[in-house]
Amino acid sequence: MSASHQSPPVAASEAAPVERRVFALRDALVDRGLVEAGEAEALAHHALEELSPANGARVVARAWVDPDFRQRLLANATAATKELGIEGIEGRQMVAVENATATHNVIVCTQCSCTAWPLLGLPPDWYKAAPYRARVVREARVLLAEMGLQLPAATNIRVWDTSGETRYFVLPMRLRGQSISRKSDSPVLLLGMR
Ligand code: FE
Repeated sequence: MSASHQSPPVAASEAAPVERRVFALRDALVDRGLVEAGEAEALAHHALEELSPANGARVVARAWVDPDFRQRLLANATAATKELGIEGIEGRQMVAVENATATHNVIVCTQCSCTAWPLLGLPPDWYKAAPYRARVVREARVLLAEMGLQLPAATNIRVWDTSGETRYFVLPMRLRGQSISRKSDSPVLLLGMR
């Protein structure tokens, strides 16, 4: 970019609201032919409406009641979730790791914010925050306790660093009293507590 095209620095207090900046960026990308008109809106709709933790709950419920599916999930999570019609961007290589009494698995993206979108939806702000990404590596047990999960001292904690290529997903243990119901006309399994 030549000097004549560089904008003068803008003080934070003078910056336009984020929504206007986002729309301006979108329009600039469309004007230059880098994205098609409507592409950003389609992606936003997909992210907000179709990527959901409810998909992950379906996978967990299936794994709990179907030992063969659980085996396929642990062997190849991408292929197994596709059986349930769950796949898509940011989920082309997903890996399931299974919690047990002796081992509790935790997911982080130390570089940025990667998660298995098709199963978990977009990541929450705390997952993307630098303190979580740093502390879960250094002091996972302390951090989990602060977040409300007290693990027995005998339970090992395994932290998995998700990346843009490989996205980890935890298959939790089924809690005592946790029920699974099936809609009468649907293969969807629902999780709940009795
Ligand atoms: Fe990331």
